Amino acid sequence: DPRIEAIKARIQDFPDFPKPGILFRDIFPLFQHPSLCHDVVNVFYEHFVSKYPSTKVDAVLGLDARGFLFAPLLAEKFRANFVAVRKKGKLPGKVVSCDYTLEYGSAEVEIQNHAVSDGQNVIIVDDLLATGGTMNAACLLAKKLKLNIIQCQCVIALTGLNGEKKLPAGIDFYSIVQYE
Ligand code: 5GP
Repeated sequence: DPRIEAIKARIQDFPDFPKPGILFRDIFPLFQHPSLCHDVVNVFYEHFVSKYPSTKVDAVLGLDARGFLFAPLLAEKFRANFVAVRKKGKLPGKVVSCDYTLEYGSAEVEIQNHAVSDGQNVIIVDDLLATGGTMNAACLLAKKLKLNIIQCQCVIALTGLNGEKKLPAGIDFYSIVQYE
């Protein structure tokens, strides 16, 4: 797919960011080529629809913060809701939380109770899957809320970190671009 080659060509590598030894993959250059953002969302959408042609999507959950760049656009294509999965303390009103451990320390993600309801079919979106800790936390949160996770989608997967294996058993994961 030439769109995937074009997306990959615009992802920029930053060695030693945010810490020495880390190679950061930056997706923001895609936004200086607006048609590529459109392509990301269309590739997500077409992949999903070809695999699950008769599944109605009720909501697209976007992960704080770069999942928010793609999830609302994807939700719009499905005529579905966009729901923010945010870091602790950012959302007002009643929230459901889930803790997770990071490489150093721990964190918590939250969803507003009223934004979702039992049994909804959802897609969870982020920019990148590394160790899988963040996406796993979002999956656990969705399960706690009795949502039906049809697929998790990331623009990039760092396959050498085996993040997919950290996700709950049976979760379908799709990435557009992979790096070892
Ligand atoms: P994980 O929890 O899978 O280890 O890390 C994934 C999370 O960290 C995602 O929310 C992602 O935005 C962020 N992240 C980690 N490394 C990178 C990177 O190299 N590039 C980008 N764009 N995000 C990263």
